[in-house]
Amino acid sequence: MTTLIKADRLIDGTGAAPVRDAVLVVDAGKIVSVHQGQAPEGLVPPGAEVLDFPGCTVMPGLIDTHVHLNLPGDGTSLEDAVREPEGVLVATSVMTAQRALAAGITTVRDVGAVGSTAIHVRRALQLGYGLGPRVLACGQPITITGGHTWYMGGEADGEDGLRHKVRHMVKLGADFIKVMGSGGGTLNTISYKPSYRREEMIALADEAHRLDRKITVHCLCAESTDYAVEAGVDQIEHAGFIADAQGNQRYDAAVVDRLAKSGIPVTSTLAVGGAVLRTMRAIAQRTAAEEALLTRWIKMFDENLLHFRKMREAGVRFVAGTDAGWRFTPFDGLPFEMQLMHDGGMPNDEAITAGTGYAAEVIGIADKVGTLKPGLAADVIVVGGDPTADLKALDDLRLVMQNGVVRSRAAPTQAAR
Ligand SMILES: [Zn+2]
Repeated sequence: MTTLIKADRLIDGTGAAPVRDAVLVVDAGKIVSVHQGQAPEGLVPPGAEVLDFPGCTVMPGLIDTHVHLNLPGDGTSLEDAVREPEGVLVATSVMTAQRALAAGITTVRDVGAVGSTAIHVRRALQLGYGLGPRVLACGQPITITGGHTWYMGGEADGEDGLRHKVRHMVKLGADFIKVMGSGGGTLNTISYKPSYRREEMIALADEAHRLDRKITVHCLCAESTDYAVEAGVDQIEHAGFIADAQGNQRYDAAVVDRLAKSGIPVTSTLAVGGAVLRTMRAIAQRTAAEEALLTRWIKMFDENLLHFRKMREAGVRFVAGTDAGWRFTPFDGLPFEMQLMHDGGMPNDEAITAGTGYAAEVIGIADKVGTLKPGLAADVIVVGGDPTADLKALDDLRLVMQNGVVRSRAAPTQAAR
C-alpha cells in the first residue's frame, strides 16, 4: 500500500536543509521519494492513504545509540537490577524497549546486558512476535575481572583471553563489541585509570575488526580514551576526564586533540546527569543521601556539559545516546539528550542529525535506516512544530511509523495550525 505523509517541513536526517511543504511517499515498508508541494501525477496510485499533518515536521525515527534494556531506569542500581533472574531481565527489556518505541525511538543499541538477554529480545522482535524498536545488541560488555558491570558476564583478561571473549560474543550473536575501558559507577571499580593495558585494547580492536564487528569503548578517564584512540576503535562512550578517587575531573586537551584528529565519534550521554538532577530536584523533602547525590551531580553535570562544549569546539564529533536504564535515565530520553547537546553548544539541526542519520552511520546501519533516502526502511516520525527552531517539538509526537506501518498516531490538536 502507498502512503503519503504531508507536513509543513521534512527533515531527511542527512543534515540537508528542511524541505518546505513536503510530501513523503512510502510504499511496501520503504521510503519511495520526497517532494515539495505535491507528489508528481502517476507516482501515487488511486486510493493511496494520505496522512496530513499541518503545522508539523516529518523526519526519520530516532536512534538511541546507548541503552541498557535490562535496567528499569527508575533509580535502581545495576547491582540490584541484575540480582533478578534472567527471565525478569528479559521481561524488563521488552517493557523498556516498548517505552522507547512509544517515544519515536525506532532503533536502540543495547551496549551491555546480562548473558544473552538483549540478544534474545532482539530475536523475538525479529521474529515479529510483538512491537518494539529495531534492536542492536553487543551481548555482554567485555570488562576486566571484577571490573565495571562484571556481573553481566563479560569478564576477560590478557590478549588471548580477550580475543577469545570477542569471538564468544560474536558466536552468541553480537552485532558489535562493547568494552569497558575504565571503571564506572559500579561498586569497587576504578574510573580514574584505564582497565585494560594498551596492548589489550589493541588486541580487542583488532579481533573485533577481524570479525567485521564495530567496537565501542566506555571511557571515564582521559588515559582510557587515549588507549582506545590508539587502538583504532570505532566509537567512545562518555569520554570522561575523571582524575582521582574522589571523582574530580581534569580536562586533557592533548588527548582531546588526538581524539578529534582520529575522527572517532563520542556518545554524549548527557542525559545521565540531566535525569539525576531532574529527579532529585522534583523531590520536595530530600534525604541526606539524595541531597548528597544532587550536590555531586550538579558539579558532574556542569563539568560534563562544559567538556562537551570544549571537545566539540576542538573538533570532536558527537553522536546522540542517553545511557537509558542507568540510574534515572529514561527510555524516552533521546529528545532530552538532544536538548542537552544543544545546551552544550550544538545547533539544533546538528543535534537532530546526531540522533538520526549520523547515529545510523556511526553504528553501521545507514543502509537501512536513519535518513529518508529512497529505498531505506520507512521508520518515520511526525512531530508538532519545528524542531530546528526548538527541539522541544520532539516531545510533541504525532506519528510513529515503523517499516511503513503506523504504530501510533496522536489525534490532531487545535495547536496544529
Ligand atoms: Zn552505559
